[in-house]
Amino acid sequence: MNMMEVTFTCDECGSAISVYPTKDVSVAKCKICEHEKSVTFTENHLNNVLKECPSCERKDFYQQKDFNRKIGVIIYVIAASVSTYIFMMTEYPMYAAVPFIVTYCFDFFLFQKLSPIAICYKCNTIFRSVGNIDEIHDFNHEMNDRIIYSDHDFDGEQLDHH
Ligand SMILES: [Zn+2]
Ligand SMILES: [Zn+2]
Repeated sequence: MNMMEVTFTCDECGSAISVYPTKDVSVAKCKICEHEKSVTFTENHLNNVLKECPSCERKDFYQQKDFNRKIGVIIYVIAASVSTYIFMMTEYPMYAAVPFIVTYCFDFFLFQKLSPIAICYKCNTIFRSVGNIDEIHDFNHEMNDRIIYSDHDFDGEQLDHH
């Protein structure tokens, strides 16, 4: 199994700082501006288990696919151009939908293969290769709003409407 990779955001310049948790690491140093950010790794992190954030020490995370949205948009624009070309310039306008069908299948296949990452609601620290990723829920708008705007701490409890 891969080691958990943690990507912090530098408090000073906003650059990404990627580190692997180890027992003796207590600061993450920015390669760009050399600012040192204090971090707290626990036994959990060393075992690829995400329970608390090493940066803000909160326990609220969400998971999403490690997907590059820009690439998604580019693929869609190409499909739209090819489709328009088929519709306008060829004798087979009924095939204009084909590029979209191909794109859709390709997207779907690609999406299945992407590995999920976990993100801290409070400080946006990113975690890759998280062992307990199945315990982490998808993004919740209400939780996000309450954590960001009201500084609410859910303490690892998922907000549920039932
Ligand atoms: Zn920096
Ligand atoms: Zn955090």
